[in-house]
Amino acid sequence: MAGTVIYVENLTVSFNGFKALNQMNFCMRYGELHFLIGPNGAGKTTLLDVICGKLKPTRGRVIFKEEVDIGKRQEHDLVNLGISRKFQTPSVFTDLTVYENLDLALRRKRGILSALFHKTTPAEEERIIATLENIRLTDKIHVKAGLLSHGEKQRLEIGMLLVQDPELLLLDEPVAGLTKSERQKIGELLQSISQRCSVLVVEHDMGFVRQFAQRVTVMHEGKVLSEGNVARIQSDPKVIEVYLGR
Ligand code: ADP
Repeated sequence: MAGTVIYVENLTVSFNGFKALNQMNFCMRYGELHFLIGPNGAGKTTLLDVICGKLKPTRGRVIFKEEVDIGKRQEHDLVNLGISRKFQTPSVFTDLTVYENLDLALRRKRGILSALFHKTTPAEEERIIATLENIRLTDKIHVKAGLLSHGEKQRLEIGMLLVQDPELLLLDEPVAGLTKSERQKIGELLQSISQRCSVLVVEHDMGFVRQFAQRVTVMHEGKVLSEGNVARIQSDPKVIEVYLGR
């Protein structure tokens, strides 16, 4: 458990008796770019739902940063503690500019009253500018988000989470439907983010996983089937049988 940003112990999540997660054990170390893969129905989304507080464990526990028992916290508490989740479809404010979207995300973290009544400070402005560089959208700063390409919207939404300074970023298929060059940009962005924040990604695109994963967990039937670097999981006969061999 020492050195883990997420520690999952005997986690079971049942839906009307069906175990989407079945006594799952899993851990993730600080600063990892960690991919979760596995066939449809393996339990990947359910695991992310528990980690971000959207679903409660039926049994077992999930510990954040070696002390926070996630099952005992509300979803909004977990956001404040630094767990941010991005869903597959980008949800940016299309009528606001790129800058305004990032500014709003920063203010939202401060709370509604502060968002309404306090101006963005110079330090916060610097943070937004640095985030823009990080997500490579500096040249689009005054463009309305609705005019961005799908890949740019994905990067903007990642930026809206980054600007809030998370400690753990959870991403659901961030490169689905993107071009090769956009996939490359997102991959490089995730690599750079993982220098200061742990990143857990559910992904189906094996080419992307091969190129960018530091560590991979393969799930099957609500449990971990295999774990390790890409080379290890690719040569694991269990994985070949249930997943890659399909
Ligand atoms: P994955 O993301 O790996 O495709 P999921 O975590 O979405 O898998 O789902 C795991 C299993 O749990 C699937 O069989 C799915 O049908 C089931 N499941 C997920 N959510 C619910 C729910 N709210 N009610 C009933 N069954 C569910």
